[in-house]
Amino acid sequence: MPASTKRGKIIILVAPSGAGKTTLAQRLMSEFPDIRFSVSATTRPPRPHEVHGKDYFFLTPEKFQQAIDRNEFLEWEEFYGGKRYGSLISEVEKELEKGYFVLFDIEVKGALNVKSQYGDEALAIFIRPPSDAVLVERLTNRGTENAESLQLRLERARMELGYADRFDHVIINDDLERCYNELRELVTTFMNQTTTY
Ligand code: ADP
Ligand code: 5GP
Repeated sequence: MPASTKRGKIIILVAPSGAGKTTLAQRLMSEFPDIRFSVSATTRPPRPHEVHGKDYFFLTPEKFQQAIDRNEFLEWEEFYGGKRYGSLISEVEKELEKGYFVLFDIEVKGALNVKSQYGDEALAIFIRPPSDAVLVERLTNRGTENAESLQLRLERARMELGYADRFDHVIINDDLERCYNELRELVTTFMNQTTTY
């Protein structure tokens, strides 16, 4: 159980695909046991090593649609060639009620949607890559994308960068250590703040 029995809060990390948010999110969670990952649902197929219920709930398009119809999503979006991604209310609320800090690794529109629903109960951070060229290099080196999906991710990245100034904070992932320390500082301050709901 978390140290406090108060209701938890939300931490949202947003970054164009390839900017480093998975790396940063994993580091935060290994350092802070009270931070729990919000496991989203998606209709995209699992990558090697991804585990159902841990990385995502991998749903068929039919099951995803059923969850939409039953209003089970806090937010959901469709992109990358019709693939859908969404955050399940039940998963998020269950952890908040237990006093955990729930970490969202979601894209920009979903993030702003969650922020607008939770207000001061949510900290929304945008992580920028240092440049377009670095983003391409990281995505290429990660080796998970073919040429078409790389192109789609880059187009989307340009759109997402246009929303950066709507976030509570923007940090640049140039050097990983420097970026993590900045993130850690923001998150620690937020977790220690008392919020009146
Ligand atoms: P995202 O979750 O935003 O798509 P990842 O965390 O998977 O991004 O990072 C994309 C790739 O870039 C990974 O191979 C990761 O190891 C690498 N990476 C992340 N941050 C940095 C950094 N500051 N410098 C160099 N490489 C990085
Ligand atoms: P990936 O396919 O690389 O795992 O994720 C693609 C994009 O979907 C990333 O930007 C990721 O943050 C976003 N994403 C993952 N889960 C959700 C979700 O529940 N809702 C929204 N809106 N975006 C999500």
